[in-house]
Amino acid sequence: MDASRSQSVTRIALIEAMAHLKQQRRDCSHCSGVCCTFVFNSMQITASEAETILEYLTREGLLTLEAVQSWRDTIERSGLDRPPLSDGRRVFSRRRYTCPFFQGGNLGCSLGPETKPLGCLAYNPLKAGVTEGEACGSDATRESEAPPESWPIPVALLRGLEERGTPAEAGF
Ligand code: SF4
Ligand code: SF4
Repeated sequence: MDASRSQSVTRIALIEAMAHLKQQRRDCSHCSGVCCTFVFNSMQITASEAETILEYLTREGLLTLEAVQSWRDTIERSGLDRPPLSDGRRVFSRRRYTCPFFQGGNLGCSLGPETKPLGCLAYNPLKAGVTEGEACGSDATRESEAPPESWPIPVALLRGLEERGTPAEAGF
């Protein structure tokens, strides 16, 4: 199965799982959204997930110079172009960053479930009424999958733009 098809199949399953969690009131509606900020967020995505986001931004006319600059700013601010913290043999932790798609507080993510990274869809409250990410975790079925090559969201998006060969004169 190619990466795009595999992503679609997983996405559908995760959206169904989220609907089930919502019935149990395990949703993010009361949370400040710390999993999208430098407090918790170290999300990495694949080239295929980046392409899904780029396609959406292009379709909606949101792939702007300002957007691209915000990705560059995030990379610089959070050192996402530097190696992860490690002793040379083992990675201790990924670098954290506030996601450029986070709108703050209850506004949450500006990407819909059909666009946002699979890791974001898979990360949910483990109980009702979470307000500061105090009881959240990832879908266990995804954790057992072999991790494909991935990068922090803004890094993956810039890589995706480069692969598209977006003209340099457009400022990208
Ligand atoms: S893509 Fe959306 S859900 Fe994922 S880290 Fe960014 S703001 Fe949060
Ligand atoms: S409840 Fe958990 S998964 Fe939802 S926004 Fe808060 S920290 Fe993120």
